[in-house]
Amino acid sequence: MHSFFDYVLDFLFPSNCPCCRRILSHSRMLVCERCYPDLPWLSEEDVLQQGEGKSHCVSAGWFSGNLREIIHAYKFEGYRQLAAPLAGPLAQQINRHYGDAFDLITWVPISTKTLKARGYDQSRLLAEALAKELGKSTFPLLQKSRHTPAQSSLSSPAERRSNVMGAFAPIEPAAIAGQRVLIVDDVITTGATLAEVGGILHRAGAAKVLCATLCRTPAAAKSPLKTK
Ligand SMILES: [Zn+2]
Repeated sequence: MHSFFDYVLDFLFPSNCPCCRRILSHSRMLVCERCYPDLPWLSEEDVLQQGEGKSHCVSAGWFSGNLREIIHAYKFEGYRQLAAPLAGPLAQQINRHYGDAFDLITWVPISTKTLKARGYDQSRLLAEALAKELGKSTFPLLQKSRHTPAQSSLSSPAERRSNVMGAFAPIEPAAIAGQRVLIVDDVITTGATLAEVGGILHRAGAAKVLCATLCRTPAAAKSPLKTK
């Protein structure tokens, strides 16, 4: 829903489509209407990735092409206002595949060091935008207990697993027990990070852990997700 203030802002500061540079009709669009269908969205059969055991991850698009560029801008170039337009298509898929199967939304946190450098936690903003779309609440359940090199800097699944092992901890285990949790991250590649945090939530007694990410790297399709 657009407020009068949004209309005034759009009039004063029109934004351009990052793909074709046409002026967007309102600033909360990800790309223009013409470019939107050409983004690498996942096909309906690929949206829900079911891993071993009971793990599930819903994603909206492939981490490639213009979607990759947009997420890069969101994460590394300060475009935090992209949280809401990125959350829209993911919220639709979460709604379609998970319905009401979770009670609260949490996120994979970044380290204090990254937060200081970046100024915002992109997965937290995404979780908050999703909560708004889905009529749910967010709750910080996890903290990053040590700084780690970016997962994207590591190539092998084994390296990525050991990089995140023990890197997260529950903030308050009692807050997790019995909860049906949707955990949100920006990109899933091998699933190592989500497996690690999913394990923490399960061990703290979460009744259910579901995952959602904006994008999935094409390689992740080949590597099954494990949350235990
Ligand atoms: Zn465009």
